[in-house]
Amino acid sequence: MLSFNIPGVGKIELENAVFDLNGTIAVDGKITDKVKVKLNKLSQNLRIYLLTADTYGTVEQTVSALTLEVVKIPPVDESEKKRDFVLKIGKEKTVAIGNGANDALMLKEAKIGIAVIESEGASGDTLLNADLIVRSSSDAMDLLLNPMRIVSTLRR
Ligand SMILES: [Mg+2]
Repeated sequence: MLSFNIPGVGKIELENAVFDLNGTIAVDGKITDKVKVKLNKLSQNLRIYLLTADTYGTVEQTVSALTLEVVKIPPVDESEKKRDFVLKIGKEKTVAIGNGANDALMLKEAKIGIAVIESEGASGDTLLNADLIVRSSSDAMDLLLNPMRIVSTLRR
């Protein structure tokens, strides 16, 4: 559990982190070692879910050394399916991280939505539905490893 207080917003108690895979933590289906190390650190405090249509068919192999759960989303109505997954595990205790238009609804529903730009860019819809926008998934994970950074940005 990750617990912190944001002045003017309230107490945040996160148990889950839901990541979009492609464009967010993977580029061309690959996850860098640096990102893997941070994911493993993060998994000490949060249950990590990777949502993916597995376009490249390589996801199990890619994440075999990581402590997380892969959730395969069939490539139809992805936006709604990703949102429904966040609702199922509990939106109040979930942070969602994504870049694409099909991440907009899950970022909107999650207690904290983080949009990442990375090298594929982020959809305008997703940016508008995010609480926070960062350059990279590495920056997003650093926020969760140092939640005072989230407090600094979101306090009112
Ligand atoms: Mg994506």
